[in-house]
Amino acid sequence: MSGNGRTVYIAGAGIAGLTLALALAKFGATVVVLERNTHIQEVGAGLQISPNARHVLDRLGVDRALHAVAFEPRGIDVYPFGARSPLVTLDLGGVMLDRFGAPYAVMHRADLAELLHKACKRFANIDILFGVRAYDVVSHARGVSVTVDEADGKSRSARAFAFIGADGVRSRTRTDMLMGPQPVYTGRVAWRITLGQSDLAGVVAQDKTSLLWGPGFHAVTYPLPHRKQMNVALFMKAREADVLGENPPRAPKLPWSLGGNRRFADIVAAAGDDWGYWPLFTVDTDKWSEGGIGLIGDAAHAMVPFQAQGAAMAIEDAAVLAPLLMTDVDAETALRRYQAIRQPRVQQVQKFSQSNGTAFHLEWPFSLARDAVVKAQGPLGHLKRLAWLYGYDPSPDPASIPSAPQREVRDAT
Ligand SMILES: Cc1cc2nc3c(=O)[nH]c(=O)nc-3n(C[C@H](O)[C@H](O)[C@H](O)COP(=O)(O)OP(=O)(O)OC[C@H]3O[C@@H](n4cnc5c(N)ncnc54)[C@H](O)[C@@H]3O)c2cc1C
Repeated sequence: MSGNGRTVYIAGAGIAGLTLALALAKFGATVVVLERNTHIQEVGAGLQISPNARHVLDRLGVDRALHAVAFEPRGIDVYPFGARSPLVTLDLGGVMLDRFGAPYAVMHRADLAELLHKACKRFANIDILFGVRAYDVVSHARGVSVTVDEADGKSRSARAFAFIGADGVRSRTRTDMLMGPQPVYTGRVAWRITLGQSDLAGVVAQDKTSLLWGPGFHAVTYPLPHRKQMNVALFMKAREADVLGENPPRAPKLPWSLGGNRRFADIVAAAGDDWGYWPLFTVDTDKWSEGGIGLIGDAAHAMVPFQAQGAAMAIEDAAVLAPLLMTDVDAETALRRYQAIRQPRVQQVQKFSQSNGTAFHLEWPFSLARDAVVKAQGPLGHLKRLAWLYGYDPSPDPASIPSAPQREVRDAT
C-alpha cells in the first residue's frame, strides 16, 4: 500500500512509539519520531510479552530478533504467602503457542527496545530525532503543523498528517496539547532489580515465572537467561508523601517480619539495597485525540502492571492505529475510530489488572477462598479465563477495514 504521501510525527521512542513507527513505515508513511533522550533508554528490567502482542511484533518482521533475546518460561509457580511449594503451576510454554498461535515470552526491556530501534533504522522513511528539546503542535483542518527544537539548537517546522503522543504516563501531549488529566498515583510502588541466576538458586525456579502472594504485597520473578539474570519485581503499598517526597526510600520496607516466609525473605536479602523503584501511576481519560493529535500507549491509558499488559496494549494500539491513519480520509476520523476500537478493550484490561492487585494482596482468611479457586481451576484454568486477552488479534487485514468516503488529503511536508 502506498503511503498516500502522509507524514506522521510521533513523540516518544518507547515501545509504543517505535512499534507505531514500524507499523506506519510498513504502509509507506513517512515517520518522524521525536525523543527527548539522546539514545534509546529502556530503564527497568524484564518485560513479559503475551501472545496478543507477540502476533503484532512478529508481523512487523522482528520475530527472529525477538526469538534471539526472549525466553519462554514453562509455567508460572503460584505461591500463597508462607507456602513451601507452589499451590499450582500454570502452564505456559508450548500450550500458549498451541492455543494462541504465539508464545508467551519474557525478555529484558532494553533488548526489545533495541531490536525495535534496529528494525526502524532499516526504513529510510523513519527518522528518529534524539535529544529533542521541545516541540509544539497545532492541529488545523488539513493536518497538523509541528515545530521542533532539535538537539543541536536548530528548529524545524513541518506540516504533517497527524501527531501522535507516545510519550508515556507523564505525556505532555496529553496534558499540554489535549488539555487532558495528570496521571494518578495508585498508592503502590514497584521495586525492581535484576539478580544473578545463582543469587536465587534454590529460591525460585530458574526456568519458570514465580508469582508470590503476600498480605498487601506480591512479587514476580522470571529468568532472563540470555543475560544470565533473574528479574525480580516486588509490588507494595506506599504513601504518596513517602515515595514522592524529597527522600524516597532506597529499599522496600515490608510491613512485617518475613521470618515466616523464607522465599520472600531470601529474595529481599539477595537484593540488598540495590533496588530501583517505580511509583505506579494510572491514566484515565476519554480524550485520546483532538483534530490530528492523538495518544497511544501509556500516554492514553497507563495501567497497573498486575496483568503485565501495559506494553502489550501499546503494541496492540499501534497495530490498530497505523492502518487507520493510512486509509482514513483524515487523521481526526482515524483517531476517533481508533479510540472507538481500542478504548473498550483497554478499559477491560485496566479493570482486570486492578482486580488482580486486589486478589494478589488479600489477607488471611480471605486469601483462603482465592487459593481454593485457583487450585480448583488447575494448571490450564488461566487459559480459559484469559482467552479474551491472549486470543485477541489486533491486526486485521487493512483491506477489510471499512474507510470513510475518500477525499484526498495530502500533507505539505
Ligand atoms: C514494574 C512494571 C512492570 C511492567 N511489566 C510489564 C510487562 O511485563 N508486560 C507489559 O506488557 N507491560 C509491562 N509494564 C508496562 C509497560 O512498561 C508500559 O506500559 C510501557 O513501557 C509503556 O510504553 P510507552 O512507549 O507507552 O511509554 P514509555 O515506555 O514511558 O515511553 C515513552 C517515551 O517517550 C519519551 N518522552 C517522554 N516525554 C517526552 C517528550 N516531552 N518529548 C520527547 N520524548 C518524550 C520517553 O523518553 C520515552 O522514550 C510494566 C510496568 C511496570 C511499572
